[in-house]
Amino acid sequence: MTAPRSNLAPFTTLRDWLAHLASTGRLAVTRPNVGLKHELSAIAKRLDGERATLFPSPGGHSIPITSGIVSDRRWIAEAMGVTPAEMLPRFEHAANNPLPCQEVADAPVQAVVETDPDLYRDLPIPTHNEHDSGPYIAAGLMISKSPETGRQNVAIIRLQVSGPKRLGGLFLPRHTHHFYEIAERKGEALHVAIVIGSDPLTLLSSQAIAPLDQDELEIAGALQGRPLPVVRCKTSDLLVPAESECVVEGRMLPKVREPEGPFGEFPQYYGPRADRHVIEVDAITRREDAIFHTINGGGREHLMLGGIPREATILAHLRRTFPGVKDVHLPPGGVCRYHLYIKIAKRADGEPKNIMMGAFAAHYDIKHIVIVDEDVDIHDPEKVEWA
Ligand code: MN
Repeated sequence: MTAPRSNLAPFTTLRDWLAHLASTGRLAVTRPNVGLKHELSAIAKRLDGERATLFPSPGGHSIPITSGIVSDRRWIAEAMGVTPAEMLPRFEHAANNPLPCQEVADAPVQAVVETDPDLYRDLPIPTHNEHDSGPYIAAGLMISKSPETGRQNVAIIRLQVSGPKRLGGLFLPRHTHHFYEIAERKGEALHVAIVIGSDPLTLLSSQAIAPLDQDELEIAGALQGRPLPVVRCKTSDLLVPAESECVVEGRMLPKVREPEGPFGEFPQYYGPRADRHVIEVDAITRREDAIFHTINGGGREHLMLGGIPREATILAHLRRTFPGVKDVHLPPGGVCRYHLYIKIAKRADGEPKNIMMGAFAAHYDIKHIVIVDEDVDIHDPEKVEWA
């Protein structure tokens, strides 16, 4: 399979992407000093899907915050340098043809190094929803490394600020959690690095449905069309994107659980409070003029980042058995997880039923499927309903 053709170069840094959004009228810059508690999140949510937001001096902090940077699927295609129709095949091609990262010695993300960090002082961390337990790092890519194979993993983990050097996180039983269990059985902490202020394609790659020991940063490199430049952390040997904005370095502590939550999650319901994993923070590094990124739980940006990699995986899965499948879509009404539209060139009666069974097997989240003919626009729920 060859990569689909593209006319635009992919975007490789958050700041280049923000400059592009600004130059095309899609970045709203607010007045300075918008409140970090609820106010900032409410403004970002109001503009969700229409314009990205940039908040100068949020809560008086010197580091600005951005949100809603990839809240439309056409924007994500644009960041990839392809048309919306080419986006899923392009993502799948990158997932199947990852590019190893390139380690560099000097990195913009380590221009400022804080070795006695204080999360409240050093970063502007918002409190998003009315019933959230407090401030959360909501758009951090957590990088960890397998104690067995040395391969890295990337995942977005919601992170509650529990103290100046303490974070609580929700870890589902996936790759990071697997690495942690290996370390914890030996009574050891697991080093982690939380990357804040990533480019759109690294954010998207972090959500790839990739096998264990596939470093998602290598998928980001493939999407960007260059080996992703990475730099070694100051307090561990983890490799983090050199051109990102901020990195929080720390350790997931063995045998420690503390209360975390509630937090407003992707279905627009709260995830409840429970005793969960704890990270102790060792250092914070950042660019000189760093930009902090946050995601509103359940907003378009959150749904798009989860939905598009899933669509790419489901499409590839179905096409292996059913070449008549032309496209798939996880619509926002099903929070880009639970409902699936499939477009097919039907060849025989009964085939749609088989395709549905295949799709239900493709991902446990899928609860509702509609199959339509080729002439229906599956990105328009009204057209699908009409059909
Ligand atoms: Mn993974």
